[in-house]
Amino acid sequence: MRSKITIAIDGPAGSGKSSVSKIIAKRLGLLYVDTGAMYRALTLKAMEKGINLEEEIMLVELAHNTEIELTHREEGTIVLLDGQDVTEKIRETDVTNNVFYLARAEGVRECMKKLQRKIAEKGNVVMEGRDITTVILPDADYKFYLDASFDERVKRRRKELEQNGRQVVESGLSKDIKMRDKKDLTRKIAPLRKAKDAIVIDSTGMSVEEEVETVISYIK
Ligand code: C5P
Repeated sequence: MRSKITIAIDGPAGSGKSSVSKIIAKRLGLLYVDTGAMYRALTLKAMEKGINLEEEIMLVELAHNTEIELTHREEGTIVLLDGQDVTEKIRETDVTNNVFYLARAEGVRECMKKLQRKIAEKGNVVMEGRDITTVILPDADYKFYLDASFDERVKRRRKELEQNGRQVVESGLSKDIKMRDKKDLTRKIAPLRKAKDAIVIDSTGMSVEEEVETVISYIK
């Protein structure tokens, strides 16, 4: 393997990208960067401050005046929002359902781009999200687009929520994922896309371990 590597991974909710990225980072000794957590943290702050999420100017100002840090401990990534641990809170359903307001704001994305590129600058990272292979790190050494069938993604998301002790309403979950897919795929700025030169992996029917092995098999 080369001395410094950058791996960029994109995909929709439930494609396995977070689980796979975490394991790959650990195995290869790379820094794991969950960019969705950054958008989630900003969303949480906007909600807590009672900002009108339709007001883009306010969201951009918020992004410029917020410190988001991902720190790494034995138990996993800790998300710090202005120094406060929000790792659990950013996974709440109302945060998940409101992220799109921040994600569609061009000025917010510009701010996140700077932060994410700065983190990746030193190399040796696995960065995952929706626009990493297309916008943030188009020159990454390895680019992957992870996908799975809709039913499989819903099933995985349900399992993940249940493992975290959350109540799941099946019809609500499908609806939420469908809505999130639509918003991520159709927004004007940095929508979720397969980069032309990304390796596409459909993990339907695969275990996380099989998905990890498939991704790793491409890394020299
Ligand atoms: O990855 P995760 O599902 O936690 O991301 C939450 C949301 O944040 C996504 O649905 C998407 O709208 C937004 N996001 C984004 N660009 C990224 C990462 C996440 O727009 N690079």
